[in-house]
Amino acid sequence: LSTTDLIEEHRICVCVRKRPLNKKELTIRDLDVITIPSKDVVMVHEPKQKVDLTRYLENQTFRFDYAFDDSTTNEMVYRFTARPLVETIFERGMATCFAYGQTGSGKTHTMGGDFSGKNQDCSKGIYALAARDVFVMLKKPCHKKLDLQVYATFFEIYSGKVFDLLNGKAKLRVLEDGKQQVQVVGLHERDVKCTEDVLKLIEVGNSCRTSGQTSANAHSSRSHAVFQIILRRKGKMHGKFSLIDLAGNERGADTSSADRQTRLEGAEINKSLLALKECIRALGRNKPHTPFRASKLTQVLRDSFIGENSRTCMIATISPGMTSCENTLNTLRYANRVKEL
Ligand code: ADP
Ligand code: MG
Repeated sequence: LSTTDLIEEHRICVCVRKRPLNKKELTIRDLDVITIPSKDVVMVHEPKQKVDLTRYLENQTFRFDYAFDDSTTNEMVYRFTARPLVETIFERGMATCFAYGQTGSGKTHTMGGDFSGKNQDCSKGIYALAARDVFVMLKKPCHKKLDLQVYATFFEIYSGKVFDLLNGKAKLRVLEDGKQQVQVVGLHERDVKCTEDVLKLIEVGNSCRTSGQTSANAHSSRSHAVFQIILRRKGKMHGKFSLIDLAGNERGADTSSADRQTRLEGAEINKSLLALKECIRALGRNKPHTPFRASKLTQVLRDSFIGENSRTCMIATISPGMTSCENTLNTLRYANRVKEL
């Protein structure tokens, strides 16, 4: 991929990112069943067995705007996905970027940064990279004269409820007024002056998100994290960029679990991911009706799905292993549907 491959004009961009096999997969000698034969094609080679026990590979091909292989860096993924959307918010637009995929496939690595090991580094995630470029753009003469202020919010949606990650997980109410304007009441909007300010907020939000949890992934796999960069001019909204680390899509299948709480959470996640798909599809087809009320996630993102200058990008993250094949195929099918007319 080079910058000449950048697709300029589309409201919806859907791409796939494959991660490398991890230690655990290498230990159990899991097979890598994903190939990326060109910059926009993903192939799944699923091992199967006939009735007479002869083995064969069932190959399935999917095409997207971009397909990133396991050697692609966050910076590169960013350049083709979220980077073009930074311009949108300077042009009074609304932008959204989603990471969608199974737990462990690389959503947080892509959006939040590298949290493997002890030295947690959020400076390489798309949240931070987008913030960096917002401050670069702000210095351009044409933007300087607008006198824009930058703010950030960070919250999570868990079981249909909203919690402020920049204010000790305070539970927030979502209200819709007569003009269908949606408000998250009391959401802390912090003003930020530089990339370092943003990095600090991401760290605060991340530690708030996982505090009191036995394992970081156990909780984050069941909640959506929403990080927003907001531009204001004389207090009025100029543009907004929402970056979302979605709940693990395999959780939607928890609807048959024996545990009632798990079942309810699974149903809620299922509902929100289906609603999200329909809202993005409506945006792509310029449909007047956006079914945003179908879930809390789409409700709080309502103003990003309507409006003439709204753009969205979905990064579907996939695990390479044969043991993840079923989830991977589900992810690819969902991502495909988002863009299908
Ligand atoms: P998710 O948020 O989807 O549950 P994570 O982002 O936490 O998944 O990724 C799971 C593990 O895989 C982490 O240890 C992460 O550092 C690693 N990982 C994910 N994507 C990549 C990648 N592209 N390159 C290297 N390691 C990755
Ligand atoms: Mg995660």
